[in-house]
Amino acid sequence: MAFELPKITYAYNALEPHIDARTMEIHHTKHHQAYITNLNNAIAGTDAEQLSIEDICKNISKYPMPVRNNGGGHYNHTLFWSIMGPGKGGNPSGKLAEAINNDLGGLDKFKEEFNKAATTRFGSGWAWLIVKEAKLAVCSTPNQDNPLMDIVEVKGTPVLGIDVWEHAYYLHYQNRRPDYCTAFWNVINWDEVSRRYEAAL
Ligand code: MN
Repeated sequence: MAFELPKITYAYNALEPHIDARTMEIHHTKHHQAYITNLNNAIAGTDAEQLSIEDICKNISKYPMPVRNNGGGHYNHTLFWSIMGPGKGGNPSGKLAEAINNDLGGLDKFKEEFNKAATTRFGSGWAWLIVKEAKLAVCSTPNQDNPLMDIVEVKGTPVLGIDVWEHAYYLHYQNRRPDYCTAFWNVINWDEVSRRYEAAL
């Protein structure tokens, strides 16, 4: 079973003005599709064809670099589309909000820490909110690595992630990664982040 490009449940222009339609369209149809095509080519004829993308990531040390780069790319972007949405933003609620208070010192401190992880990740990569040993933590990874992978420094289950590759923001924000990171809070789908949080516990 080959991996396929997941549909995004909202229109490419639905996240404007925070993320522009052209960026969304190229990011989804070109970048994400390329990760999937390259992943499928890299695992063709191997046992990995029978596995979920999560299971591939969790044992990524067993695979060659093209699987790590493109499998990570597929997992990361699938999560990314799902944790954003039109008319979202605002504040988290329920158990997730409680955990942000208890584990991360509150929403403002969490935002500061997450933005710092996202803006200081050198070159291309991702910043993450993860569940690690039943607690929330913030971390970042280079390239298309993610916290599920058995080779990364800080491991856990991702519940929120921001893509800080230049292709995610350059058309609209050029070199202003911090402005993109600030705008990201306006499009977060906290219901989906909460769902992922409770599933990860
Ligand atoms: Mn990307």
